[in-house]
Amino acid sequence: MIDVIDAWLRLAADRLHEQAPALTALDQAIGDGDHGTNMDRGFSAIRALIDAGRPEGDEPRVVAGARLRTAGRTLISTVGGAAGPLYGTALMRAGAAVAESSPDADAGAAVVAALDAAIAGIQQLGKAMPGEKTMLDALVPAAEAGRTAAAAEMDAAGVTAAMAEAAEAGALATIPMLATKGRASYLGERSVGHQDPGATSSTLLLRALADATAGVGADGDASPDAA
Ligand code: ADP
Ligand code: MG
Repeated sequence: MIDVIDAWLRLAADRLHEQAPALTALDQAIGDGDHGTNMDRGFSAIRALIDAGRPEGDEPRVVAGARLRTAGRTLISTVGGAAGPLYGTALMRAGAAVAESSPDADAGAAVVAALDAAIAGIQQLGKAMPGEKTMLDALVPAAEAGRTAAAAEMDAAGVTAAMAEAAEAGALATIPMLATKGRASYLGERSVGHQDPGATSSTLLLRALADATAGVGADGDASPDAA
């Protein structure tokens, strides 16, 4: 399980690095122009964490959960602003959900439970609801789509692909929204007509998750193209 998580975090780090200028441009329009550099800095630190070795343990879910929790703490300690603590809390909550999940739980359902836990952490910290032009507008529809896919007995690759697709639609749907949380809310009506940077980075994270999951075989080993 840690193979797919590490493949995901590395792929996310690569793509956030590539997309940092685009994310920053979105944040220049409705924020302070630091979202790309924030995410790039945080995920480079996560990459260094992975390079330094694996968490100890025999139980795969506990090891995977420990990786996610440490990655979350890394984001909180390396990224200022809103997104660092929000994504950091999300990863820590997802890690707790993975560590506590039943060994018999279906992989698709476990991913949905982890995303639900991540969203609950973001909402507890940031007090936002869907429709306020934040990362939640990508993540909440993604969790709903994942739940539907898991109920239809899709495998983890199908569930994460459904999540990524719903997140992409959700991020586009932030364009006409009025921001009422975070820095973009200071702009009032001028926030309308721009895609939310955090919803965009959430989409990138979920697309990387789907791609990393698709690159992992049924035995859980990462194939060479997964990273
Ligand atoms: P900052 O706004 O402090 O400069 P970033 O630019 O890194 O931080 O992140 C901005 C993103 O954080 C926004 O695009 C939005 O998606 C997300 N965000 C801000 N406030 C909240 C909140 N209260 N709840 C959820 N997401 C939020
Ligand atoms: Mg910003």
